Amino acid sequence: MTDYDQKQIERKWQEKWQRMKIYHFDFESDKPIYSIDVPPRYASGPLHAGHAVHYTHIDFVARYKRMRGYNVFFPLCFDVNGIPIEERVERKLGITRKDIDRHKFIKLCSEFAEKNIKKMIEQYIKLGESMDPTIYYQTDAEYYRRLTQISFIEMYEKGLIYRGEFPVNWCPRCMTAMADAEIQYVERETSLNTIKFYFKNDQPEQILKYHGIGRDEKGFYVEIATTRPEMLPSCQIVAVHPKDERAPWLVDQILKVPFFDKEVKIVEDESVDPNFGTGIVMICTIGDKEDLKWVFKYKLPMEMCIDEEGRMTEICGKYKGLKIEEARKKIIEDLEREGYLIKKEPLKQNVGVCWRCKTPVEFILTKQWFLKTLPFKDLVLKTSNDIKWYPEFMKKRLEEWVNSLEWDWVISRQRYFATPIPIWECQNCGEIILARKEDCYVDPTRDPPPVEKCPKCGGKLKGSEEVFDTWMDSSISPLYNTFWHRDEKLFKKLYPMSLRPQAHDIIRTWAFYTILRCTLLTGEKPFENIMMGGFILSEDGTPMHASLGNVIDPLEIIEEFGTDAFRCYAASCS
Ligand SMILES: [Zn+2]
Ligand SMILES: [Zn+2]
Repeated sequence: MTDYDQKQIERKWQEKWQRMKIYHFDFESDKPIYSIDVPPRYASGPLHAGHAVHYTHIDFVARYKRMRGYNVFFPLCFDVNGIPIEERVERKLGITRKDIDRHKFIKLCSEFAEKNIKKMIEQYIKLGESMDPTIYYQTDAEYYRRLTQISFIEMYEKGLIYRGEFPVNWCPRCMTAMADAEIQYVERETSLNTIKFYFKNDQPEQILKYHGIGRDEKGFYVEIATTRPEMLPSCQIVAVHPKDERAPWLVDQILKVPFFDKEVKIVEDESVDPNFGTGIVMICTIGDKEDLKWVFKYKLPMEMCIDEEGRMTEICGKYKGLKIEEARKKIIEDLEREGYLIKKEPLKQNVGVCWRCKTPVEFILTKQWFLKTLPFKDLVLKTSNDIKWYPEFMKKRLEEWVNSLEWDWVISRQRYFATPIPIWECQNCGEIILARKEDCYVDPTRDPPPVEKCPKCGGKLKGSEEVFDTWMDSSISPLYNTFWHRDEKLFKKLYPMSLRPQAHDIIRTWAFYTILRCTLLTGEKPFENIMMGGFILSEDGTPMHASLGNVIDPLEIIEEFGTDAFRCYAASCS
């Protein structure tokens, strides 16, 4: 064994295998087909050891099936669209995408991704992964985006797409709407501020025996604790728990919102936590998703106090234009000076943040495109039951997610580096003109619409500047792989695919969206089997992630110990 030079021998075989093309899918063969819906690796950076183990596991399946006599379909592929790449480019150059021309920015993103793809292909070869480069795809290529656009047009024509004004999760830094699945929860230190809300009417003396109620020279007041005093201008109601001893005194009374010429009613509601603050809470439009339930239940007006850039809106009076944090600081100072602030205490709180930039997520009203999702919960659950899950218990995660869904899927994003939404809008009457399927791929920011002017009113048409959520691209990977809208005969032969291997942290996104969309578009499940991989943890027990800075380059391990040693290690991780 002392003479064994793994570097030389591995290189020799890697080169030979490439020359022999032994991993290529054979379109002519009549051997049984085993097709793998490979996770297109995201092109925001090179592979780390965790990815390498994950892809090596998938490679084991491909090699095993080849040895069992199957004609294995195992594409080399990359996912390229989206915010993470835009962010890396923005950080690298110290700019935001709004600083330069849209198409120049897209080009920079594309160049950044191409560099990573080149590096990853080299890594795959050195890792001995046997993906087939002749059935290659990347999701930002026009040939792929064409299918994303066609799938949108077909869903639109089926009445599954609509545009709505809706409060969406919004990252004020990335300036884009976000899906629930993109929100992360982190613990933040904030302050709980107890504020006086004065009664509109005079009160009996007895009311003073209750906690959270007081009187000063300005009259009787209730004490309300809030972490978000900057939302006072959009306060709509105040609530207590029905079993609260104060409820009989308080319900239906009117309170005056400090500083803002506004009166709000007190209601009783089971969902109030009597132990939070003083047990009397203010409901604003809209601080978090909980508030949205109040909006629907009590038919509250959607008065928004925060805009897309995370600044206070015109209903905020003198605070208008301030950033959220500034407004909060200023309003606390003002409340204190005017005698409204009773106390301010530190509080640890779980805050929903943007998974990329960690900015707290806000709710704002925007016009967005939606894909109807809620009417198809049963369809997804039924399809999921027709798929064999490995391990079986992971199916539960999808089911829990589907059952917890409350909104349709927001599929539009206000970004640049992604698939353009193939529509034009009449600037006069708002009529929507869809691209023709035969014209896709189109970029409405550059390409002319299929008709010269609005067929309804003759108005001028403007191409959409919006793009799709990148899951709109990656969730049709089984359709791309099986030649949907490219070759009907091959599609019939290849669809559904045999196996979807994927990581368990994207069950709510990639697995869910793929099952939803492919079933809606074809009437059939996208794959027969789904196999979940785990994470590789770093030494301190956290999952390996480039943004955590705890990653190991697999090539360094291979350089020292050889590919076989690494793959042997991968085989021992389950
Ligand atoms: Zn963000
Ligand atoms: Zn028109």
